[in-house]
Amino acid sequence: MENIGTFGASRYSAADLQLFRDAESAEVNAALAHCAIVRLAENKVVEDTFRARLYIVLSGALEVADDNGVMFAEGAPARILPGESVGEQSVLDDATNLAAMTAVEDTELLVIEPDLVWRLIDQSNGVARNLLRLLSFRIRAANALLRRRQKLGEFYRQLSLNDGLTGLYNRTWLNDMLPKLVARARQDGHPLSVLMIDLDHFKKFNDTHGHLAGDGALCAATTLVRALLRPSDFAVRYGGEEILVLLPETAPSVAAMVAERLCEKMRNTVVFDDMRIPLPHITGSFGIASLTPGGDERSIVADADAALYRAKEAGRDRICF
Ligand code: GH3
Ligand code: MG
Ligand code: MG
Repeated sequence: MENIGTFGASRYSAADLQLFRDAESAEVNAALAHCAIVRLAENKVVEDTFRARLYIVLSGALEVADDNGVMFAEGAPARILPGESVGEQSVLDDATNLAAMTAVEDTELLVIEPDLVWRLIDQSNGVARNLLRLLSFRIRAANALLRRRQKLGEFYRQLSLNDGLTGLYNRTWLNDMLPKLVARARQDGHPLSVLMIDLDHFKKFNDTHGHLAGDGALCAATTLVRALLRPSDFAVRYGGEEILVLLPETAPSVAAMVAERLCEKMRNTVVFDDMRIPLPHITGSFGIASLTPGGDERSIVADADAALYRAKEAGRDRICF
């Protein structure tokens, strides 16, 4: 970063700078005349950025990374072009400026020290107004960036908790939520029931009709499960063709009715292949379990699994406790 003279002796005019637009006066020009101009070669970084200072790009361009080293996304200024400034916020709140600034090409910068910035604000309403407008723009851009990051975060959070094929909750979600549901049931003294569903002879279905048809059948099964549940119930893809349904505040007798309804609906659902030709009906076996007085999230799943095994043993396409 090389000092190449003062603003007063340069070819630049304050009228071309955003901060001084319509705010030029003899006083402002006189104050700026002594400010230093520095030259920055391409790819060089602005040194001493931790010192609060206002920089105005006179020629060339600066790229500004935020505190995390990530370039500002669209909507916020990633590049500071001739006439634009950077660092005004750190001058105003006297905070350390952590943003790294790099010259995109050979660049000349006007450097304004904090006390002069304050003097200009005191002297010129126009400068104060321009600064407010600039800050308002920066706040808006930062808010938009935050909103985008929030949305993106939410999107990835959802992705990580849902199964890609069926859209049901996945095991990660289950591992987090089942202990909470168990704890709440225990605390409120409410029953909690679960259904472990496994599609019958699904390997054969795949072998006969292909895996794509199998995927379609699995999705049809999960869609009907979801459609028949209450908003307060949850369906999780437990394994390949296994679905675990969580029924909060549900006694075993009611869970059996829900299972019966799902079992019947599954038996009667028609699955089509990609040529819209109906495939053989799929069926499921259902194991039902409820939270026992000494039980926990592991025992309730193990009990449902054992009940499912009994349903398979008894001939499939049925429910069992
Ligand atoms: P059972 O009645 O005893 O449950 O027999 P099954 O054939 O369903 O049981 P098995 O565990 O032997 O096979 C499960 C099959 O489910 C094998 C696997 O290819 C299939 N499967 C698991 N996940 C998927 C999936 O995402 N898509 C498809 N198309 N098939 C799957
Ligand atoms: Mg199966
Ligand atoms: Mg299975």
